[in-house]
Amino acid sequence: MPRSRPGALRAPQTPHFGWSLPPDRIHGLSARTSLAIHRVERLSGDYYIYPGATDRALREYRAFFQPPGRRPLYPQETTCSCRGCSFYDVRHARDVLEQVVQQLPFRPRAELEGHVRVLDSRYRERTLPDPFAARRQWRSDRWWRRRLARSPEAG
Ligand SMILES: [Zn+2]
Repeated sequence: MPRSRPGALRAPQTPHFGWSLPPDRIHGLSARTSLAIHRVERLSGDYYIYPGATDRALREYRAFFQPPGRRPLYPQETTCSCRGCSFYDVRHARDVLEQVVQQLPFRPRAELEGHVRVLDSRYRERTLPDPFAARRQWRSDRWWRRRLARSPEAG
């Protein structure tokens, strides 16, 4: 860790992001929380947590409920586990949100959690419980993985 130069201390309004660009504000979240999230993403050693992952996860989670209605929805398993394709499974989006929430400081955490909770209640309403999740589902300790899903070949 290099020592801060006095000039750096006098210019706190010019954040230094190193190799990555200053983050865009995540839709619906404050600039402060977006920045905290970007920091978590940038410092994460996890392959699936990268700059922009939280924004993508929130968008995928919201998109899951389109079109709006009452018809039950089924998370879709993916055939490719790369960090791009994984998002086609909404449960992966929820995993990413969980992981980021856990690493955020208190206030940004509360703000992101508030958004996630709203989506969670819709998810509970629109998906169906899977009574055999413990037997066939990876990470069935996570409640959002104990819902009936479609396998890729089912389309
Ligand atoms: Zn892929």
